[in-house]
Parts: sequence; structure tokens; C-alpha cells
Amino acid sequence: MNRIVTVLEALGMLACLGLLLRGFQELGFAQGWWGLFWCLLALPMGYYCADLLSGLIHWVCDSFGDSHTPLWGPMLVAPFRRHHKSPGDITQISLTENLGSSAIAGAVVLWLWSPDFARPASNGVLLARLVGLWCVAFAVLSNRFHRWAHLPTARRPRWMQRLQHWRIILRPQTHALHHRKPHRGNYCILSGWANPLCNRVPWARVEAGLLRLGIRTNFD
Ligand SMILES: [Zn+2]
Ligand SMILES: [Zn+2]
Repeated sequence: MNRIVTVLEALGMLACLGLLLRGFQELGFAQGWWGLFWCLLALPMGYYCADLLSGLIHWVCDSFGDSHTPLWGPMLVAPFRRHHKSPGDITQISLTENLGSSAIAGAVVLWLWSPDFARPASNGVLLARLVGLWCVAFAVLSNRFHRWAHLPTARRPRWMQRLQHWRIILRPQTHALHHRKPHRGNYCILSGWANPLCNRVPWARVEAGLLRLGIRTNFD
């Protein structure tokens, strides 16, 4: 069973990579130098959006459902909940286990969205599509950056420590604040850039509003 899951996760990663490359080819490289310019302009925006998205997904997985919730329970909720109890385990898992679930989700999103790429677009729409594409790419990678924030210093190469020190990718010290009980802040796990915004959201009030709609939180 584990081998089947690993194969499916690896296929999901390949499908996601293929769809991303096709997207960047159609929206960026095929448009010539202007396409490349829009592509580079969209990168930091997509990177920020992906960090924010990682925070929102993390909040959902920490706050609702359990490992038996259909579809996303075993794929996302269970790993996030286990991670609070054993934070170091993320440094022991394989690449497919680390990124497989998010890559499958990213591949589904890209597969549904990609027919839109061929439609004519203004510069603003093209930029928005490229921001979305970078956002999906980095959101899929976010759990890798999260893993790096948990590696012991001795296992982190110099380039990784520099990127973390310069806050280009998630700093271990920033993420450590999320691991303090009750795990209710610093949800963003890609770069941490969106944490100041994410931490301003009154989560308790949002959750109270959702409870009125019958959606109840479930922390453990
Ligand atoms: Zn968490
Ligand atoms: Zn963590």
C-alpha cells in the first residue's frame, strides 16, 4: 500500500511539474521578451501569495476536521496535526511524502485552469495568470521550505542558512513561534513574509462566525 501511495505521489509531482512548465511556456516564454518581463515581475507577487495561501491552508488543517475527513483528512489534516506532536519527523520523510499531497492538489488546480491559458488576455490578465502560476508553484514547494526550517543547523548547508538568515525563505526562529502551544500564530510556512498580515486576522472571530454556519473547529 505504501509503495502505491509513493508511486501516486511521484506521478502527482511529475504531472504538476509538467503542467507548470507548460503554463510558463504558454504564458511567458512563448510571448517573447515581454512574456519574460511579465514572468519576472509576477515572481515576487506569486511568492507572497503562496506564503499567504500556505498560512490559510495551515490554519484550515490545524482548525477543522480530523484525519478521517473525506479527501483532505489523510492528505493534509493528519500530517499537520502529527507535526505539532513530533516536529522533528518532517526531517526524516522522503521527498514524495513531503511534497506529494500538495503536488497532487497543485496538478488538479493546474489541469482545471490550464485551458484558460490559451485565451487572449490583456497585460493585466496575463500578469494575474503568471502571479497565479508562481503562486501554485511555490505553494506546492512550501512544505519543503517548512522542512528546511526544522533541520538541525549541522544538516543545513551554508546557502540554506544564508537564505533563511536573509528571510528569503522561512527562518527557523520565525516558524518556532508557531510550535509554541496553542499553535495559533505564524501559520505561513514558505517565507514567513505573509505572517504579519496573517497574524492580524481575528481567527477566533472567524471561527465563531463559521460555527454559526455549523462548521466547528477541532483542535488537538
Ligand atoms: Zn500547525
Ligand atoms: Zn513546523
